[in-house]
Amino acid sequence: MGQVDYIIVGGGFAGFFLAHQLQKNNKSFLIFNGEQISGSHISAGVCNPVILKRFSTFWKSKEQMDYLETIFSEIESYTGKNYIIHEPVARIFHDEAEKKQWLKNSNKEDLKPFLEKDFITLKSVENPLESGIVKNSCRIDVENFFRDMFSYFDTKGLLIKGSFDYNSIDLENSMYNDLKFQNIVFCEGIHTKDNPYFSLVPVLPNKGHCLEVKIDSNIDPYIIKKKHFLFALSDNRFYYGGTYDRFDQSEDINPEFVEELETGLQAFYKKDYSISKVKTAFRATVDDRRPILGTHPKFKNLHIFNGLGARGVLNGTYFSKVMFDYLESEIKLDAEIDVKRFY
Ligand SMILES: Cc1cc2nc3c(=O)[nH]c(=O)nc-3n(C[C@H](O)[C@H](O)[C@H](O)COP(=O)(O)OP(=O)(O)OC[C@H]3O[C@@H](n4cnc5c(N)ncnc54)[C@H](O)[C@@H]3O)c2cc1C
Repeated sequence: MGQVDYIIVGGGFAGFFLAHQLQKNNKSFLIFNGEQISGSHISAGVCNPVILKRFSTFWKSKEQMDYLETIFSEIESYTGKNYIIHEPVARIFHDEAEKKQWLKNSNKEDLKPFLEKDFITLKSVENPLESGIVKNSCRIDVENFFRDMFSYFDTKGLLIKGSFDYNSIDLENSMYNDLKFQNIVFCEGIHTKDNPYFSLVPVLPNKGHCLEVKIDSNIDPYIIKKKHFLFALSDNRFYYGGTYDRFDQSEDINPEFVEELETGLQAFYKKDYSISKVKTAFRATVDDRRPILGTHPKFKNLHIFNGLGARGVLNGTYFSKVMFDYLESEIKLDAEIDVKRFY
């Protein structure tokens, strides 16, 4: 019979960033990760403080961007790698009105650190009206981050591969089979709907498709954004995505969205490419666009960390610390992120 401070259910951004906070603070834990599809694993990993439709920013964007370097340098101390890739977003302008809006917004206090006033012309793609650079934006090397984190926790014996079985919890004695626990934190993304303790929390699936494309020519070293993001993964492998769909809840590839991606790419990339992979998974979104943190109303050692939406990296890194401080130091959660708002 073992004993842990925490069981984490879920090995996406929420689960792993929380695991990092626990490990940093010498808490004992086990992570369960099942076969369920994870949005985190196929995500683009873009960390972008600007909403690229309106050239505005969002709640806590500056705090989130500031914390990014801290958490990834902490993670580097045990995986040996820093996964931040400092290639900023280059947003292709659609018309002159957008350029004007960008320049106007770049004088606003909250956007000054992010909207570069000097526009650039990308060489490898069509951008006749130039492109705007989002200063300080970057992306995470998602493939290597998950590969290394899985391997690190697996080697330390902290990873259980397989689904967590809700029927094996004995809440009276705080036991999971023969494992004694202090707390369980569910970081299950959209699969929270199957969780008998948190199934009523309104996590809404938003399905995303993305492509891996093979391109044999050079592409400017940016996260190029027109309708979707295009950037290099390695050598001639490129990421292009992702789409948004609030309706389709099947796990199948939907040809309509593959077509949307192809049309989107061809609109600004005119040379040859071939599609090597098509992937699809779900973002766990919330109507009020706030993450969900907190404790079950009745069972005080069951918790949830979810609702990271389209910003799994920024929300996941920043709010994993908020979640840890809440769990361990009883620092009160903001009402707008507390799961209590749904009870
Ligand atoms: C196409 C696409 C592109 C994206 N691009 C970006 C981007 O550029 N930048 C960004 O920040 N975000 C991006 N996102 C969003 C990001 O992926 C999500 O915010 C993120 O996936 C949320 O992470 P999560 O850990 O909450 O959930 P998930 O990633 O869904 O992870 C949940 C994990 O829990 C496991 N699980 C669930 N239930 C159980 C159980 N009972 N037992 C064991 N394991 C369980 C699942 O197997 C899964 O691994 C993108 C998403 C998609 C789909």
